[in-house]
Amino acid sequence: MTPETAYADLVRRAREEALLASCADLLEWDEETYMPKAGVAHRSEQRALLAGLLHERGTDPRYGELLDVLEGSELLQDPDAAEAVNVRWLRHEYEREKKLPRSLVEEGARVASLAYEAWIEAKENADYAAFRPWLERLVGLSRAEAEALGYADTPYDALLEEYEPGVRTADVAALFAVLQQELLALLGEVGGSSRKPQAKLLRRDFPVDRQRLFSEAVASALGFDFEGGRLDLAEHPFCTAVGPGDVRLTARYDSRSFPRGFFAVLHEMGHGLYEQGLDRAHFGLPMGEVVSLGMHESQSRLWENLVGRSRPFWRAFYPRTRAIFRDALHDVKLDDFHFAICAVRPGANRVEADEITYNLHIFIRFELERALIAGDLTAAELPGAWNDAYRRLLGVTPADDAEGVLQDSHWAAGLFGYFPAYTLGNVYAAQFLEAAERDVGDFAPAWGKGDFSGLLGWLRDNVHRHGRRWTSAELVRRATGAPPDPAPLITGLRRKYGELYAL
Ligand code: ZN
Repeated sequence: MTPETAYADLVRRAREEALLASCADLLEWDEETYMPKAGVAHRSEQRALLAGLLHERGTDPRYGELLDVLEGSELLQDPDAAEAVNVRWLRHEYEREKKLPRSLVEEGARVASLAYEAWIEAKENADYAAFRPWLERLVGLSRAEAEALGYADTPYDALLEEYEPGVRTADVAALFAVLQQELLALLGEVGGSSRKPQAKLLRRDFPVDRQRLFSEAVASALGFDFEGGRLDLAEHPFCTAVGPGDVRLTARYDSRSFPRGFFAVLHEMGHGLYEQGLDRAHFGLPMGEVVSLGMHESQSRLWENLVGRSRPFWRAFYPRTRAIFRDALHDVKLDDFHFAICAVRPGANRVEADEITYNLHIFIRFELERALIAGDLTAAELPGAWNDAYRRLLGVTPADDAEGVLQDSHWAAGLFGYFPAYTLGNVYAAQFLEAAERDVGDFAPAWGKGDFSGLLGWLRDNVHRHGRRWTSAELVRRATGAPPDPAPLITGLRRKYGELYAL
């Protein structure tokens, strides 16, 4: 077998698996949008079967043989070329997959599906006790997964590796410690300012059907391609890339809260732009995949906040916003509207948190899920620990467990090790924007006219089209000239909120 024929066979297999995986993605999308409640047991079996089939194919010893032929061959001379990138990551995934027993993979998919439905009901009734047994099973499965995969320092490392390859728990903890100190200081200054936004302006009546049309129009104007995507309703907004030409966004609107729906759309659209910017020619291969979850979140958080909560953005879109929501906004000036959507206010809800306190919500989840996985915290103790952490860091107490420990879907879907990606994303995003403006020039004039193509073009060139050519840290270094660094995020927040709150 020549390296060329081995490579062709490897590509064929990887693509078939990607097709199978995309069927699982579509089932998951359907489960969270349109599936009737009573379909959950059947769906959990479908998902378990697909997860098992994928695992069986992914651990086929033939992979090992093909990779053996390729590694060290001339075909891989250039480490940045597509062939080398694909072989490197497929080896990584093959070795990782082999360590997981099929029974554990199937059980994980089955339980995640059932637990998710149980969580929805538990949240509706603010009944943590009903969800607790599921959480115990999910934590147990994640711990078993970490043990099977192996880790350097702590079981959490093995889970984090799934979402942010190459990044260790200790790295994240160190970065978060720096950020936490800076953010708490800034939050204290904002709290002491006599300038206050009128956040209640955004709680007037914003008809849902108009919100939907407006959000779609903005997403389109920012570059999301609706010929190759959709925007549907779901209780918990998310983005699923089914495949080339099919990127699904979901949103949820609330007539009494404009930001809740609108910024969720911008967030998911940011994910969608990344997926639409991947090179279709590499579909099904690491060169055609996103780098990591943190990189994914860097794109969503960038469009949601650094663009969507900027003043130039609203200079472009506010006249239209005011025309569409006349009753609510006819007496509201641009500056007051902008200050209101940037209002800093510690609260119990992560998704609705402002740019400064958002990361504090992440630090709490990072601390608690590490303790759960390490066995230092039980599921029974979790709600108490959650509320304590909120009092300590944000000075708020959730009204009930629905507003507290049950608010997020991640743990219910078995996703432990996922949360740090949001703050890593904020860090990368601030670095990207700083570098893009250094390369392209100040974006404010173009954004003020509704032109965001300079930023999207820079992201396409420097992030999207590279797929998994480099790790997240290396990609950040190549795109910005510096390793992951919280300084641009801190500087950016200080500048923006210093002006808004006259600090
Ligand atoms: Zn996201």
